[in-house]
Parts: sequence; structure tokens; C-alpha cells
Amino acid sequence: MVHALTALTWTAVRDLPAGRTVAVLPAGAIEAHGPHLPLGTDVIIAEAMARAGAERLAARGLHVLMLPPLALAPAPFAAEFAGTLHTPAEATTMIVAGAARSLSAHGIRVTAIANAHHDPAHVQALRAAVAAVEESGGALVFPDLTRRRWAERLSAEFRSGASHAGRYEGSIVLAERPDLVRRDLMPALPANPRSLVDAIRRGDTTFTGAGGAEAYFGFPAEATAEEGQEMIAVLGQILEEAVIECLNSDSSRS
Ligand SMILES: [Zn+2]
Repeated sequence: MVHALTALTWTAVRDLPAGRTVAVLPAGAIEAHGPHLPLGTDVIIAEAMARAGAERLAARGLHVLMLPPLALAPAPFAAEFAGTLHTPAEATTMIVAGAARSLSAHGIRVTAIANAHHDPAHVQALRAAVAAVEESGGALVFPDLTRRRWAERLSAEFRSGASHAGRYEGSIVLAERPDLVRRDLMPALPANPRSLVDAIRRGDTTFTGAGGAEAYFGFPAEATAEEGQEMIAVLGQILEEAVIECLNSDSSRS
């Protein structure tokens, strides 16, 4: 009962039991992820999270509409690196809010964002979308992995803030798309344990400024597909929990 929205007809969506249907929007970015991971790393991770969460929600008897991934995002930290597409934050807010409002108007109870791009500008843009949708009476759920509640469920490297194109992200891409990983380079990359969270607090605004001249942080050489599978399972649980919480609070209000 996981449906790709783009593959359905409008009548098929109309005929879904709206009260038991939710939507999932994978949100990533096209940005530099070290010399070893593809520019679309966050899209790959977001889609893995969305799929894992959707399977869990479907197992509870819900219908899940899978939206196409949002690949364009503000990416100021990586903007200096070739291939990175840095788009206006306002555009992200408007597109995400517009999509959620459309689904809400068609009776879909909740839209959930499976986000894998943690640049503060993007996180802020998604929070703004949530606020805008709530204002108009819809429900947009955003389990923000940079918040302690969710982050503490992920790996030590993720929690340390040294988690861009390192062990955490490298592991998930190894699990999902090993063909896109430069495995000739990855095992030899030196660790870069500088925390992006600390760098952001200090006021740094670029990966280079934060001490990541090659656009990676953390421990890429330690990535494994096994850890990637484990992380995807946790990401799926987080998405499931956030959606179920929203559905429960929704029904207790009405
Ligand atoms: Zn990433």
C-alpha cells in the first residue's frame, strides 16, 4: 500500500480512503559530498528514509503516497564547490507548503518530510513550511534530525556534528547505491572530526570555513553497508513515529 504518486491516476487518488492515507516527501539536495560520494547523496538518503518509513506505515494499514524527491535546496555551506546547486530558501518553503496544502485539500491527513539535508538554511526553510501549512489548517510533519530527540537515535558521528559525507552518510550510500561510491578513494581519506554544529555556532557559513576544504567531515573510511542498513531502519522508525504522533494528536483534537 505504498503508491508512487506520479504513477497513479487522479481517480485512483480520489478513491483512496483519505482518512487512512498519508504522503511522504523525500527532501535532499544536490551538493558536494567529498571526493568520494555523489552530489545526490542527500537525495539517496532521503529516498531510503522515505521508503523505510512508508513500509512501516503501510504495515499499520495506512496508504502511503510517495512524492517525487525534492532535490533542489538552499545549500550555502557547499555552494563554493563545483556541481552544488544552491537555490533560494524561500522557493523551498513555498514549494513544500504548496504541495502539502494541495494534498490536504484532497483529504490526505498528513504529509511527512523525510529530510536528509541538514544545512541550517534548508532546515529553517522546512520549519517555515511547517508553520505556513499549520496556519492554513493542514498537517505537515518534519522530524528534524538536528533536534536532540531524533539525533540521539542515530550514530555517534551524526551526533558529534562531524557528519557530512563521513561514516554515517557514506554507510547509507554504500547500502543504497554502492555503484556511486568512489571506493578507490574512500578507504584512504583522512578523518576530519571537526563538528559542523560547533562551526555553525562560531558563525562559519561555508564548509571551507568550517575546516572541510574537500567538502567532507567525519570518518568516511569507516563507512560500511551494514551500518547503512541499520541507519536506514532507524530513519524509517523516526518517520513512522512522527507520522503516528501527528495522526494521534489530530484525532484527539477532533
Ligand atoms: Zn549529506
